[in-house]
Amino acid sequence: MRAERGLLIVLSGPSGAGKSTVIAALMKRRRDIRFSVSATTRDPRPGEVDGKDYFFRTHEEFARMIEADAFLEHAQYVGNHYGTPAAPVDESLDAGYHVLLDIEVQGAGQVMAKRPDAVSVFLCPPSLRELERRLRGRGTDTEEKIRGRLAAACREYARAKDYDYIVVNDDAQTAAAELDAIITAEQCRSGKRLNLIIEGDRPI
Ligand code: ADP
Ligand code: 5GP
Repeated sequence: MRAERGLLIVLSGPSGAGKSTVIAALMKRRRDIRFSVSATTRDPRPGEVDGKDYFFRTHEEFARMIEADAFLEHAQYVGNHYGTPAAPVDESLDAGYHVLLDIEVQGAGQVMAKRPDAVSVFLCPPSLRELERRLRGRGTDTEEKIRGRLAAACREYARAKDYDYIVVNDDAQTAAAELDAIITAEQCRSGKRLNLIIEGDRPI
């Protein structure tokens, strides 16, 4: 296990941009990342597993978690609640893993305010037309939900400038390679590496 504390990485982008797809490709490239499993009140999609993709919770259970101050951030998105359980994030960072949060823009703003050292990346599709095609192609949302998600996408684009990096998901492997490169570059920041430079006998 590495002694150095891991990076907190916030990934946002419109629903259907390909965040889950790119994260899966990234996790195959690197073994030093843990995905933060969020709690949500939305229904599971076919194939989604409780505890792996999300912790699927009732509105009452979610409200109790808010009351217990269990979230690093939480927000509402197209009629459902989503939140990042705080404890596993810090446990993984302390253990030296990078922690990846797949969260929407309001929650991302809360994390950036609380954790200024977080690295933020906005993932976008090559075009809105392609986003609509992907949302329909995924086949998991009703027409009403797709409309809601497309409307949310326009609001989300307005927040892209608040992020440290923007990655375009045209080809998923290329996008994963760019995310990988961002993480590597962030690890090499001088502020994180000065302790490795020895001047005489002492670290500078
Ligand atoms: P998000 O997690 O951002 O909501 P998903 O990863 O579920 O998005 O992707 C939405 C849909 O688009 C899925 O059907 C996925 O297979 C598809 N997709 C993702 N990335 C690409 C890509 N680079 N090119 C084509 N289709 C993609
Ligand atoms: P989906 O329902 O498509 O899985 O996710 C919808 C949106 O909720 C996506 O933009 C996703 O990034 C966001 N999201 C997922 N988990 C969280 C979370 O814990 N907190 C916040 N704020 N957003 C989340």
